[in-house]
Amino acid sequence: MLTAEQRMPQGTEAGVHLYAHVRCNDAATCAFFGHVDKAAPTTLTSKPNGNVRRASLYDLTFPALGRLLIEDGLNVVHTSALWKALYRSGGIARERLETFSPPLRRWIKAQFGDDAGFLSEMPDVITNIASSDGLTRKFLLRLGDGQTIETVVMGYTGRVTACVSTQAGCAMGCVFCATGQMGFSRHLLPGEIVAQVLHARDAVVQQGHGLRNLVLMGMGEPLHNYDAVLTALEIISDTRGINIGPAKITISTVGVVPGILRLAEEKRGYGLAVSLHGATDAERYALVPAGKRWPLDELIAACRTYCTRTGRRIFFEWTLIEGTNDTPAQARTLGELLAGIDAHVNLIPLNPTGGFTGGATSLAAATGFQHMLKAAGIPSTVRQRRGIDVAAGCGQLRTGREKSAV
Ligand code: SAH
Ligand code: SF4
Repeated sequence: MLTAEQRMPQGTEAGVHLYAHVRCNDAATCAFFGHVDKAAPTTLTSKPNGNVRRASLYDLTFPALGRLLIEDGLNVVHTSALWKALYRSGGIARERLETFSPPLRRWIKAQFGDDAGFLSEMPDVITNIASSDGLTRKFLLRLGDGQTIETVVMGYTGRVTACVSTQAGCAMGCVFCATGQMGFSRHLLPGEIVAQVLHARDAVVQQGHGLRNLVLMGMGEPLHNYDAVLTALEIISDTRGINIGPAKITISTVGVVPGILRLAEEKRGYGLAVSLHGATDAERYALVPAGKRWPLDELIAACRTYCTRTGRRIFFEWTLIEGTNDTPAQARTLGELLAGIDAHVNLIPLNPTGGFTGGATSLAAATGFQHMLKAAGIPSTVRQRRGIDVAAGCGQLRTGREKSAV
């Protein structure tokens, strides 16, 4: 059997990343955010068998899990039983070992030992709060190295949707966003994204529902952590396991152009939302610093390519900030910018954050904005951000907790 050190996966072939050095894996995005590598921790400690984090079984796609078993001398037929235990039967627990075939039981037992290569632990729940209307539940989860991330379950659209994080913090620095205000800590590993969905599913099932929808709108920029996110989504959409269909999964991006073009090429069937917030470069830069790296002409060209290649509609997110980006003139410019794109605009009144002085738009301004878009032939929806009383804006729960700890 391989040691934990030997098991540190190299590259993404097995669907996983370097664990000892959590680095950006997309040179195109790293070139701009040069501070990311310096900010990223070089080790994920705290595990008993050494100073590196042991990989999690939740990091592995079905084929990668099969390869792992073969490497350890097991027949690949055992993959299904292990996958089912991980994703359909509540995980792997010592007390349930007798339910596995003898070779698989021996292999799993070895994983519990001190020199084991793999783990199947879930994050600790630090905070679990429901909104006063009972429709939103928010969790603050602690990862193996102490980083905290947010996961939200929302039930207000008549269907239950989980909203998960893809990074601890975010490097993109949007001025109104609590996650942007805290800066970047590190990328999440595929298993840390998958674990959030498992956790959300448990919470939803306890309430008598099923989890069918997923949005990557929690902390972090999904396309800045492209490989881990796409590996996680392959695991989450696998019909033998969690089985949330690609069409029910939405990736939300601040506009990382190389990532959008990769999605267009790979055609995996996931939905795409692009956060715009400004329809001229100057207005956008003021809210979204990453807009300097990928100006609107490049971003909109990438969106057109995405629509043409995939035949899919793009959702454009627009956080309405009173007196900043909620005027009829801006709505008109936005209509012109999106002309000819299969677009739907989601208008979201700002959820105020501590580090930003702007306020939420009035309902009247939001409706006026919507009418202007309609005149330009662009469909839109005004979405009230729910669960404000549980700090359900991205990054707000962690920020609130850090403040109260001071
Ligand atoms: N990084 C990705 C996904 C996470 S943010 C992105 O930016 O798209 C998910 C959405 O929440 C984005 O549209 C973002 O602009 C929005 N958002 C962040 N903070 C907000 C706030 N305080 N009020 C309203 N919307 C916010
Ligand atoms: Fe990052 Fe998205 Fe927040 Fe911008 S809005 S800082 S991209 S999480």
